[in-house]
Amino acid sequence: MKTHHSKILTTLVLLIALSTFNRAFSQSLPYAREVVKALTSKEFYGRGYINKGDSIAADYIKEHLRSFGAKPVGDSYYQPFTMSVNTFPEPILLKIDDQDKQAGIDYLVHPASSSISGTFGITRITLQDVIQQQQAIEKIRNSAGTFIVLDAIEKDDLNEYLATRLEKLEKYLLFNPGIPAVGTIILQADKLTWFGSQEQLSKTVLMMSASSFPEEAQEIQIEINAELLQDYQSQNVIASIDGVNNDSSVVVIAHYDHFGKMGDALFPGANDNASGTAMLLSLARYYSKNTPPYKMIFIAFGGEEIGLLGSDHFTEHPTFDLDSIKFLLNFDLAGTGDEGIQVVNGSVYRSRFDSLVALNDKFDLLPEIRIRGKACNSDHCMFDHKDVPGFYMYTLGGIKAYHDVYDRFETLPFTEFEDYFKLITLFIDSL
Ligand SMILES: [Zn+2]
Repeated sequence: MKTHHSKILTTLVLLIALSTFNRAFSQSLPYAREVVKALTSKEFYGRGYINKGDSIAADYIKEHLRSFGAKPVGDSYYQPFTMSVNTFPEPILLKIDDQDKQAGIDYLVHPASSSISGTFGITRITLQDVIQQQQAIEKIRNSAGTFIVLDAIEKDDLNEYLATRLEKLEKYLLFNPGIPAVGTIILQADKLTWFGSQEQLSKTVLMMSASSFPEEAQEIQIEINAELLQDYQSQNVIASIDGVNNDSSVVVIAHYDHFGKMGDALFPGANDNASGTAMLLSLARYYSKNTPPYKMIFIAFGGEEIGLLGSDHFTEHPTFDLDSIKFLLNFDLAGTGDEGIQVVNGSVYRSRFDSLVALNDKFDLLPEIRIRGKACNSDHCMFDHKDVPGFYMYTLGGIKAYHDVYDRFETLPFTEFEDYFKLITLFIDSL
């Protein structure tokens, strides 16, 4: 009888546990979608430095953490830090032979560009000029008052020697004060990918898709207003939830910043990294209702895209003991998963990686978990430098949008978000 009773009891407990488990998980995707939708909306200005988009995002994250009962680590949810960043706050005008070109779609302004206003001629340097070399030198010498347009996109067929020469020329044409031209336009066959800059240099450089640049173009009308923000105050958002054992912590990090705006062009950063921020907040939400094995510390970093600035500041001025970190998880690009996930540091912390794979196999969650060694490509890198054990995980497949105006909520698939979230909670509970 006793055995029988306890069997029924065990089954009941298991059923209740499973249904709670499923209920808690089935709610993760709608919440994550809500977070990504909000963070990518125009009211957040692309979470950059125009209209203090970064601070608006930090405030949103802080309020969500607070609503889950997560406490500040120290006196405040914020850890402020200052940075320099070059911005383009005004609408940008670019006309080529009276044809309007659209920022973000036809071209990108190099993030270190300076201001410029006027109408200029064109010095076109073709692959033929690069091959002849002397011709290219001559054209550059006579480029005063014009824009140099490097039009040598057929690089795929080049032999190694010419490819290297073209690469050198491209570098030489960027911000070179010795060149008489007012600026440079580099034509590209591949997709436009933006980045950030802490400095402003004394020329104007654009990256333009070759198909947007008319073959016989004669004249460029351009107006760019670049503003270098110095000592701009941004912030990290830090909060914690107590666990069963609070001597050690599991730290979840994700950067919330993105590139903001380039003139009127908005860079919403849905996959990069509203999705990782949504993973962080979803975990905080989950562990506010399900006591974690260790203290959970959540850090949403600012300034990542400009050079890992928030995480650099934090690891140099930690608000808690870095030695108490049992394991760290960095989420950056969490919104797809069609081809599984990649685990940076997987081969460094091999037994942790193996247990992640075992959990994934047992519960049949993600299609693939790929292993990778060290890579200094996101905020976890600053913790690597301090010997804090951890993974950086990112989802694979789904979309090609990255560091461009197309990384939007509307086209972010969230393919594996639910299973990804499930896997992470199982992994954290197994630590
Ligand atoms: Zn990112």
